[in-house]
Amino acid sequence: MGVYEDLGLQPAINASGKMTALGGSVLDDAVVAAMGEAARSHVVMDDLLRAAGRVIATATGAEDGCPTTGAASGVAIAVAAVIAGTDPARVEALPDAGGRPDEVVLMKGHSVNFGAPVRQMIALGGGRAVEVGSVNKVSPAHLEGAVGERTAALLFIQSHHTVHKGQLSLADMIAVGRRHGIPVIVDAAAEDDLRRWPAAGADLVVFSGGKAIGGPTSGFVCGKAPLIEACRAQYGGIARPMKVGKETVAGLLQALRQYGVDRAGDGGRARMARLAERLGTLPGITGSVEQDEAGRNIHRAVLTVDAAEAGRDARTLAGELAGGAPPVYLRDHQAGTGRLSVDPRPVTAEEEEQLVHRFASILGAG
Ligand SMILES: *Cc1c(COP(=O)(O)O)cnc(C)c1O
Repeated sequence: MGVYEDLGLQPAINASGKMTALGGSVLDDAVVAAMGEAARSHVVMDDLLRAAGRVIATATGAEDGCPTTGAASGVAIAVAAVIAGTDPARVEALPDAGGRPDEVVLMKGHSVNFGAPVRQMIALGGGRAVEVGSVNKVSPAHLEGAVGERTAALLFIQSHHTVHKGQLSLADMIAVGRRHGIPVIVDAAAEDDLRRWPAAGADLVVFSGGKAIGGPTSGFVCGKAPLIEACRAQYGGIARPMKVGKETVAGLLQALRQYGVDRAGDGGRARMARLAERLGTLPGITGSVEQDEAGRNIHRAVLTVDAAEAGRDARTLAGELAGGAPPVYLRDHQAGTGRLSVDPRPVTAEEEEQLVHRFASILGAG
């Protein structure tokens, strides 16, 4: 029996992408080995965090980096860092900003919920979210009008979760930040290009370690050296209940070292084309392949369900797949329009066979 079976649970087949609800990423042996090794001895944590910063700098092209438990805590820590800096009294007073500039300006269309609201992470770090513009339209004047002596930072969310039309670009935001001497924080949690946002001139960039990078449940902030020093300082304050363990840091760094090796290539396109073709022979299923809507190198098999022919609609089919043995989770946020998709990244070849088998048995073509 395994650790999940002992609890009466079944390991799931995740065909939906990098989902926190399904445990983030499955780790490869080298990452697991690094975590096991780190678990077996003590280390001076301050020194480990600094050494980790150097590995993160190499991977991202940023000046320095600070490991975190995830991108969500990374946002809270980045906000705390720009408000309190490294002053111990200010660090210990947060989330009370003590009258210092505490407003974090973001576009309304970027004020998303990624599993929790980004506004709440700003508040945790002692900031006050100031949303500018309308959900689908923001002008530079909206942003300029909101920036003043109360402003601590500008926050840009780079994500498929945000509204994509009518928004200002990161370059627009950085230009405004520069003009006013205000740092720009980018939440790039799920992005796969680790060098792009630091190179674009963002002062702090937040990534998740358990999404594109394929590391353990973790994250990091990278960026300008003095601000990263301030991020580390928050571990003596609001970041203490978000402290990151030595095992997690070791796993994150190993994942970062190997990252990039498997990022080149076709993003799963050939494999998903074969899968779409196989599933497309089942009654009521039409298969195709589509690239990620946010432009990342991810190609997914898209299965369009003809409810009359399949005998159930897409949402019902997704429910049947998730409710069976083994449970199979597809990407289902377009189920309302009859579309389900398979994300190639978390699915092994063996799981792909099980997935085909489950489809065939539900649709009666087993
Ligand atoms: C997933 C996500 C987060 C949270 O990342 P964790 O590593 O799970 O804490 C934050 N922001 C955005 C835009 C995300 O997509």
